[in-house]
Amino acid sequence: MPFRSGFVCILGRPNAGKSTLLNSLVGEKLAIISPKPQTTRNRIQGVVHVPKRKGKNGKNSKDGGQIVLIDTPGVHKPDSSLGRKMMVEVREALEGCDLVLVIMDVTRKFDPRDQFALDLLKRPGTKTKAFLILNKVDLIREKSKLLPLIEEYRKLYDFAEVIPISALKRNGLEMLLERVISALPAGPAYFPEDQITDQPARFMAAEIIREQVLVNTQEEIPYATTVIVDSYEEGARLTRIAATIYCEREGQKGILVGKGGQMLKKIGTGARLQIERMLGMKVFLELYVKAEPGWRDSRRFVEELDWRRQLEHRMQEQGALTTAITNAGPDHTED
Ligand code: GDP
Ligand code: MG
Repeated sequence: MPFRSGFVCILGRPNAGKSTLLNSLVGEKLAIISPKPQTTRNRIQGVVHVPKRKGKNGKNSKDGGQIVLIDTPGVHKPDSSLGRKMMVEVREALEGCDLVLVIMDVTRKFDPRDQFALDLLKRPGTKTKAFLILNKVDLIREKSKLLPLIEEYRKLYDFAEVIPISALKRNGLEMLLERVISALPAGPAYFPEDQITDQPARFMAAEIIREQVLVNTQEEIPYATTVIVDSYEEGARLTRIAATIYCEREGQKGILVGKGGQMLKKIGTGARLQIERMLGMKVFLELYVKAEPGWRDSRRFVEELDWRRQLEHRMQEQGALTTAITNAGPDHTED
């Protein structure tokens, strides 16, 4: 039996439960979750290590493998630089993946955003292998109601499998993992066994702070805020983090700080506890709030938020630095 591996992209409209599915399959909270649409802004990779299982007398044995899951922002029509960047993240995730899990919320009627997601699969010249994942079945009492839904979706795309699950209650996930592994090609492990994500801790800290903002604020504030970690110093026993919550208007800043700084304190404490759990050590978290009018429409600002881009830049700079040192070499030789 070969070891199987591949990249599996989770696609669907906002709020379908993509990030919940990623977290449930990986078994750790990698992506922040909220009932508010557009919680996820970047693509997030989580690694699922599936051990090989031996069956009796050589029967029913299951292949082992590694699934690199990619959670994506919800598919939507973008109306700002941020929205466009989110859709670029979706397209980049779809490129070169081995399988797509199209995830639908069974409590919602099919709408143009679902169609938009299916259209992304139908790229000219390629036939993307896809599973239809019917999520939130825990909310449906009569399971027979799923049948007409399945019929409807099958007409729209040639899905290799249709699997009902509850990402939240973790129902149907064993079967899903099994089918995903069988659909992947024989291949190597892309990540070492103890690694479950490619996200830097620094970025995850920013996301955890943003989740606390989402949980504790209403109306437009969740969409108008973003978080940048200004400094991150990891010590042996304590990690010191300073971060800024950016919003768009002074009024929003007032709400985020709250009466006597109470709101900011609540956000800070909630985030600190979670970051401590993630890092397994004490954290000293300093939070600031700044109004940056129109940041969502600022390409420069939105690019600033992209940690993959930042890492690439840093590596290029280091590359450039190495070249510079090598080139400068002869001038520094001692005779
Ligand atoms: P995303 O936008 O697709 O990433 O969706 P999230 O994973 O952030 O989930 C959106 C909301 O749906 C959250 O409130 C989740 O708790 C909820 N949710 C996700 N999966 C399930 C499920 O299987 N059952 C129920 N009842 N709720 C779910
Ligand atoms: Mg999400």
